[in-house]
Amino acid sequence: MAATAGSALRIRAVSKTFPTPEGGEVLALDAVSLEVADGSFTVLLGPSGCGKTTLLRCIAGLESPDSGEIELKGVRIDDVPVWKRRVNTVFQSYALFPHMTVAHNVAFGLQMDKLPKAEIARKVDAALEMVRLSGLGARRPSQLSGGQQQRVALARALAKEPEVLLLDEPLSALDLKLRRGMQTELKRLQRETSITFMLVTHDQDEAMSMGDQVAVFDSGRIVQVGPPRDVYLAPRTRFVADFIGEANILQGTASAQTITVPGFGVLSTDALATDGVAAADGQVFIAVRPESVTILPAADGNGTVVDATFVGGDLHIDVKVGDVVISARQAGAAPGALSAGDTVRVAFPSGSVRVVEA
Ligand code: ATP
Repeated sequence: MAATAGSALRIRAVSKTFPTPEGGEVLALDAVSLEVADGSFTVLLGPSGCGKTTLLRCIAGLESPDSGEIELKGVRIDDVPVWKRRVNTVFQSYALFPHMTVAHNVAFGLQMDKLPKAEIARKVDAALEMVRLSGLGARRPSQLSGGQQQRVALARALAKEPEVLLLDEPLSALDLKLRRGMQTELKRLQRETSITFMLVTHDQDEAMSMGDQVAVFDSGRIVQVGPPRDVYLAPRTRFVADFIGEANILQGTASAQTITVPGFGVLSTDALATDGVAAADGQVFIAVRPESVTILPAADGNGTVVDATFVGGDLHIDVKVGDVVISARQAGAAPGALSAGDTVRVAFPSGSVRVVEA
C-alpha cells in the first residue's frame, strides 16, 4: 500500500505479546493501527498497562512487534535499528548523563553522528535557547530543578531534528503547576519546530489540552481516535465516555425509534444510532455529559437532589432518579438555587444523549 501524502507515521495491525513470569502471556498490543499526520501532535491516552508505552517502544525500535507494519515517512522501519530511525524519545526519568554538563548532554547524540564541531555548537545553542535554558549549558543536571532537567532532555532530543519525537509521560514527575507550564511549552515547541510529536499520558486533561488528535487505548487496543473535542462530544464506547471527562452512563431498552430508560421514560432516537450496538434483547448503554443534564425544580419531578455543591464557579448537583444517581453541572447557578432534598425534574435535552458500545 502506498504511503498517504502528509503522513509521518503509519502503524498497521501491530501486535505484541510478552511472556509473563507465571508462564502465561500478555497481549500488550492487539492489532493496533494508527495514522499520524506530519507535523501534528498526537496523544496516546489510556489507563496504566493498556499498551501505550509498548507502542512507543515499537516505534522507537526498543521492542519488535510480533506482527504488523510501521512506516516512517512512507518507509517501513520495522527492521531498521534504533540508531538509524529518525525518531527520538524523551523518557519520564529524563535519562540525562549525570557526569556531563548540560551542553555535553545535548551535544552527545550529535557527536555520535560525527557532525563538525562548529555545527554541534550551533545546534546545542539553538536547542538550549529553544527550551529557554541559554546560559545554563555549563551546569550539571544535579544543579538544575526537575523542570529544567526535563527541558535538557527535550533539548537533547530536539537537537537531533528527528522526524518524530516520542514523549513517554514526560511531565508526570513534575508538580501540577510546573506541569501545566510545561504543557504549554511543549505545544509551543511542537508548533515552532513542526516536528511530529507523539506523547503518552494517562492524564485526560493533558491529552485534551495538548493533542491535535487523541488515540484512546483500552486493553491493548485503540478504541477511538480523533480530535479531543470530537472524542469528548461523541464517545464511541462506554469506556471512552467514562475515561474522558465525566459521563452519566445509563442502561435502556431500544426499539425501532425509541430508547426507554427507567426513570426518564422514552427518549426519541432521531439522532441516536443503535444499529450494531444494542444487545439481542435490545439493551443499550447511553452516555450523557453532566453539563448537558437539565434540572428544574418541579413538585411532580422524577428525582431528588442528594447533593448540591459549588466547585469553582459551577454548581455540581447529584440527583437520585429511581435507582441511579445522575451528576449535573450548572454554570452560573445562584447560590441556594438547589439543595439536598429538593424534588426536581431531570431531563436530557435532545442531542445530548449518545448511544455507546458496552
Ligand atoms: P503505564 O501507563 O503504566 O506506563 P502502558 O499503557 O504504557 O502503562 P505498557 O507499559 O505498554 O502499558 O504495558 C502493556 C502491558 O504489557 C502491561 O500488561 C504490562 O505489564 C505488559 N508489559 C510491558 N512490558 C513488558 C515486558 N517487558 N515484559 C512483560 N510484560 C510487559
